[in-house]
Amino acid sequence: MKDSGKAAVAQRAAGVWSPPEGVKAVVFDVVGTLIEPRPSVAHAYQHAAARHGIERDPETIRRRFATAWRRQEMIDAAATPAFSTSRSREAERWRAIVEDVFDGVPASGTIFADLWEHFGRVDAWQPIPAGRELVQRALDAKATVALASNFDERLLEIAGRLEPLSWVHHVFASSEIGWRKPAPEFFRWVESRLGYEPTELLLVGDDPELDIAAGKRAGWHVLGVM
Ligand SMILES: [Mg+2]
Repeated sequence: MKDSGKAAVAQRAAGVWSPPEGVKAVVFDVVGTLIEPRPSVAHAYQHAAARHGIERDPETIRRRFATAWRRQEMIDAAATPAFSTSRSREAERWRAIVEDVFDGVPASGTIFADLWEHFGRVDAWQPIPAGRELVQRALDAKATVALASNFDERLLEIAGRLEPLSWVHHVFASSEIGWRKPAPEFFRWVESRLGYEPTELLLVGDDPELDIAAGKRAGWHVLGVM
């Protein structure tokens, strides 16, 4: 594994980035790398709650969301096997996060349903320009381009209708794979679906642990876009 991340960041900043020599597929994380929520997660939660008569300020929501998110990651890390998942586990994760954020108020279930629908809509997301440019450059270099995300099956619909997600050759979502990053099985699954060796793959992502550290452990090239 060659960690060419630093050189790649400098090249990207200069607008001349292309995948390192020997890389046949560029695999992109999605949320925080290619797209971001619009409005923010905290504001989307605030609006959904307000529709059901629950008033919370975005800063409180942001703080509670971060704690609730970490709690679910710890549950997955402690499971046997660690970081395995499914459509039902992903729905359960988000239901639990919404309940934690709103402290289990009776309307939590309805707020969850609203938010599940909201984040499954194309107009809840906006492209990140730097990510869009990297996808374009990977395509220009004739690499195979894929998405590999801890998002669930809702990604499949969004990816077909929102650039640059719609430009790629393959869309892999954790709920469909059965594993979440950072599980080694997630990376092995993508390798086998694409038919490439670890050293022929580059992961581009924004999460230091789930993308960058886990990608390195899998023997892939990595490029952080934090
Ligand atoms: Mg991300």
